[in-house]
Amino acid sequence: MAITQHKCDAAIIGAGPTGLMAAEELARAGYTVEIFERMPTPARKFLMAGKSGLNITHSEDLSIFTSRYGKSADNLTKPIEAFSNIEIRKWVEDLGIETFVGSSGRVFPKAFKASPLLRAWLHRLNDMGVKLHLRTNWQGWDPESNNLMFMGPNGALQAQAGTTVLALGGTSWPKLGSNGEWQQALRDKAVKLEPFRPSNCGFNIKWSDYFRERYAGEPIKNCILNFAGTSAKGDVMVTANGIEGGTVYKLSAPIVEALGNNQPASITIDLTPDRSTKQLEDRLAQPQGKRSLSDHIRRKTGLKGVQIGLLREFAAKEAFSSAEGIAGLIKSISIPIKSVRPIEEAISVAGGVSFDGLDENLMLTALPGTFCAGEMVAWDAPTGGYLLTACLAQGKQAAVGAAAWLDKMHGAQDKC
Ligand SMILES: Cc1cc2nc3c(=O)[nH]c(=O)nc-3n(C[C@H](O)[C@H](O)[C@H](O)COP(=O)(O)OP(=O)(O)OC[C@H]3O[C@@H](n4cnc5c(N)ncnc54)[C@H](O)[C@@H]3O)c2cc1C
Repeated sequence: MAITQHKCDAAIIGAGPTGLMAAEELARAGYTVEIFERMPTPARKFLMAGKSGLNITHSEDLSIFTSRYGKSADNLTKPIEAFSNIEIRKWVEDLGIETFVGSSGRVFPKAFKASPLLRAWLHRLNDMGVKLHLRTNWQGWDPESNNLMFMGPNGALQAQAGTTVLALGGTSWPKLGSNGEWQQALRDKAVKLEPFRPSNCGFNIKWSDYFRERYAGEPIKNCILNFAGTSAKGDVMVTANGIEGGTVYKLSAPIVEALGNNQPASITIDLTPDRSTKQLEDRLAQPQGKRSLSDHIRRKTGLKGVQIGLLREFAAKEAFSSAEGIAGLIKSISIPIKSVRPIEEAISVAGGVSFDGLDENLMLTALPGTFCAGEMVAWDAPTGGYLLTACLAQGKQAAVGAAAWLDKMHGAQDKC
């Protein structure tokens, strides 16, 4: 069968938020842009992110904002300063989507969902002349022509592009499109990749059958998690296999690192942040009467069934023999973490294309004219709007670099 041939100034591969932002920037620079996406519809993970409220960015001061990226801040500060949390909010509003700042400082669309924003964005891209090819899976480069090779709904196609932006995502939630299969094509071109690992993820804990059957699905409300000098306050969701939720995600990076180094990892939980050890001791020392110990603890401390179940699950019997012992457990129950939940379930990933092989515009030094951006690049960020901000900012950064590359190429041709 004949191979369909395409020619464009810029090929964007991956129609997630990163790729769409790169497409917008390149189209605005006046170049012809075609987006290639393997799924039947674009930006599936972005839509999924909107299911529980699309946290697009955070409203805090930019210097605090960029510090949230920890070890990745060196590589992300420049693009985020160029397309900041304030500018992202303005960009959303320019698409006709109102936003609001939640009590935690996080920024959301008023409708909470991602779909109205995505609809408006795709409309804008269409008006700008950007072509979107769906069900079109990128498979690497043709060994002879170096053209981009795809398998589309009507068979094989190839694209000859002046520049390419790869925005292929990581490896979490593969059913939404980003399955990491692209790694082989880059390895073949000697691009340095760091292994993917889960980030903002849950953990396996060895619950007893009794605890699992009784408490899976229940939240441990308003507690403080501690791990290796870092703490996070909020709710923790008990699952059949362990724990998850935003509070757990905040500590996930150091826990994943410890487990990866084969160090034993235990978190401690303060189940009553608003009550001191002394207050608990005084109340627990009051007469128990004919009540069971669990009932006594519940009445004197306000703990719920799942919290008392947690104490019973991980503390030795002897610790329950005194008010001091029980108070100590409530303030600092130690929970051994067995392992990390599978990467497929993680909100995001760390790892991917190493910054060592990218120039300051995110161009692959091994493949001049080809840029990488978004979750496929080896940076990490917490939840709170920092992930999408970094993706959008890198999409723009790569596109600015790609436009400069095209300007240079066109300038060189003009001179010929
Ligand atoms: C449940 C959930 C909730 C989230 N909530 C938030 C939130 O509220 N705030 C926040 O900041 N972040 C959130 N995130 C993270 C955020 O969605 C991601 O960081 C972001 O979508 C990554 O964007 P990306 O464009 O780099 O990659 P992706 O969104 O993964 O897009 C990559 C695209 O490339 C396509 N692709 C892959 N391989 C190929 C190929 N070979 N050929 C063609 N196309 C290909 C994929 O199909 C996909 O469409 C959430 C994530 C999840 C899973």
